[in-house]
Amino acid sequence: MLVPVSTFQILDYCEYQLFLKYYEKVKPVITRKMLAGIQKHKRLEEEFLEEAEEIEETIEEHLEKLLRGEVSPFNVRELPVKSEKHGLIGRIDEALFYEDHAVIIDDKPNPRITQGTIDQLRAYAAVFEDHFNWENLIVLKARSHSNNEVFYEEEFNEKARTQIIEKIEYLHWLMQDPTRAKPTSEKEKCLHCSYGPYCDKFMEE
Ligand code: SF4
Repeated sequence: MLVPVSTFQILDYCEYQLFLKYYEKVKPVITRKMLAGIQKHKRLEEEFLEEAEEIEETIEEHLEKLLRGEVSPFNVRELPVKSEKHGLIGRIDEALFYEDHAVIIDDKPNPRITQGTIDQLRAYAAVFEDHFNWENLIVLKARSHSNNEVFYEEEFNEKARTQIIEKIEYLHWLMQDPTRAKPTSEKEKCLHCSYGPYCDKFMEE
């Protein structure tokens, strides 16, 4: 089973959303804030495409040329990646390829780092390594939609790899039986939860 990398955001916010989404098949409420985020994301892609140079071969072929020193470093938006090894699939907002390192960027509506965003970035790195047989350094960055500035950055090192692999295993354990998912203990989260109106564990103030 291939699980979207973005599920790490759910895991961090409240894993009970997994039960509602995958077991009860609940569709979350789409808020104005979420719609604004989707529109901003689309605008960023359109702006990128206006200035982008088209690559007339697969990313994998172009990457091989880069590693042979035949082409210059390049970047790709909305890069699809997949890993059977980790059972994950996703689309990286922006990836920059250099001969000796890669940069993975996740665009967020607000410059506020959460464990969910860190885990999502690390999961993308694990999938990226498997997808491209990548053995060089990967730098992870979270960037804000609001001002286009990077507000979080780390190198994907051995410690980060070990931590995310444990979390990937936990995620698949939950996905095998979403009734294992536990609700949050933070009332505040329920108030802002897009599954709130359908949740039997909703905590009132
Ligand atoms: S309403 Fe609360 S317990 Fe239910 S899914 Fe949302 S955050 Fe979790």
